[in-house]
Amino acid sequence: MRLSINKIDYIFEHLRQHWLPEKRLTDAFLILDPDKPVPENHRERIIFRLSDQEVPQVLNLYDEGERIPVLFPLSDDVSLFKMDEDGNLWFSHDYLSSAFYLLSGMQELDKTKLDEHKRFSYSMSIQKSYDFISKPVVNYYFEIILKGFECFAKRHNIVIKRQVLFPNFGFLLSHDVDRVAFHHPRNLIYKILQITGIRPCIESKSKIFKHVLSGLRYHLKLFGGKDPWWNFQWMIDLEMRLGIRSVFFFLHKEEGFRNAWYRFSSAKIKDLISVLKDKKFEVGVHGTFKSSTNYKSLVEQKNALMQVYGEEPIGIRQHFLCFSLPLTFKIQESAGFTYDSSLTFHDYDGYRNSYCYPFHPYDFDNDCILRIWEIPLVMMEVSALQYRQLSFNELREEVQSYIREAKKFGGLFSLLWHNCRLYDEENAGVSEFYEGLLEEIVDHNPDSLTGAALMQSLRKD
Ligand SMILES: [Zn+2]
Repeated sequence: MRLSINKIDYIFEHLRQHWLPEKRLTDAFLILDPDKPVPENHRERIIFRLSDQEVPQVLNLYDEGERIPVLFPLSDDVSLFKMDEDGNLWFSHDYLSSAFYLLSGMQELDKTKLDEHKRFSYSMSIQKSYDFISKPVVNYYFEIILKGFECFAKRHNIVIKRQVLFPNFGFLLSHDVDRVAFHHPRNLIYKILQITGIRPCIESKSKIFKHVLSGLRYHLKLFGGKDPWWNFQWMIDLEMRLGIRSVFFFLHKEEGFRNAWYRFSSAKIKDLISVLKDKKFEVGVHGTFKSSTNYKSLVEQKNALMQVYGEEPIGIRQHFLCFSLPLTFKIQESAGFTYDSSLTFHDYDGYRNSYCYPFHPYDFDNDCILRIWEIPLVMMEVSALQYRQLSFNELREEVQSYIREAKKFGGLFSLLWHNCRLYDEENAGVSEFYEGLLEEIVDHNPDSLTGAALMQSLRKD
């Protein structure tokens, strides 16, 4: 893989999230192509040698006890970098190509590896092959580079100024509003068909019968019947009590069984959006299946939400985390979104782009950076509870480990929890667990913020 100038600049632009560039250092940069001879008599340079490998060939390095897999090593030397007697800093491996490969999501360009929803799965990923999904490896590469800079700076009496995004860590909570009616008439009729044996059922008939009764109670407005998926006031109250605000992504009604069964323009949704806006929550678009590859569809959804929200939604998450790289980003950017937050793997939590900071995606077609931001999602509850079948305790431990990683770098932990996954009858104890989990996260004292607030803070820098 030969990194073009634009690709190298892309990595340096993200490295700048972690230090304030100092001219004496940047002037010393020397990027060496693999087939060019090493120039002689250079002094006091910072030398990045590029690898000529076409595909990753992992070498494990260790820094402060942490295993750091480097995808484009230059030899089997396990040092991170070296200073020579002429005052040059030599990076021992090609961290630039390794960072580019992961951050840009280059592995996802292989379209033969997609699932039935055209998604790139964890099961096909390099993170799975080399077991590093739970580590933001690109942050570790940047840390090695900065340590190299500090070593060089010390030798040449230069001061290095580091910076972090958050003094402790950032926490971004979000909710995809896929389904809002457990007792939707379609569900109710289906359950009646299950009881009568016309439709198959996995759960016990007595449980389904109970659901039908509570559905009838709800529809007939008897004994205070409630819909367990219309739980927004509870969610809002909980977050307000904890002093946090989240993003709610709303899904448009479009053809297809798995899209929304509600309309933005219905009175209930309108009221909900107005309450959210009033209480300083953020409202964004949850892009339908079609919108991940269809510009016109996405613009229609954005406009429809804008009509109800009264302002332009700036954030988006794709439904089912359907994403085609780089097309989906280009569609989102053209439609005027400021950020996306779809990128974790649907089937496994962790760092899909191996980075715990917001980042810009890469346009491989035109070999340039895109200006839209990706706020990487770290955990969707479905990946942990359904795909991985984790217990609540195991999920809690995973969250603690993501918080530890985020704290190391002043980075971000981002959590998605669906409103329709908080019903105790479907998942015993989930509402109490969720409440306790949020309390625990808040106890770590993060900067809790919405995507819009994060974008504003990035603009200030
Ligand atoms: Zn969804």
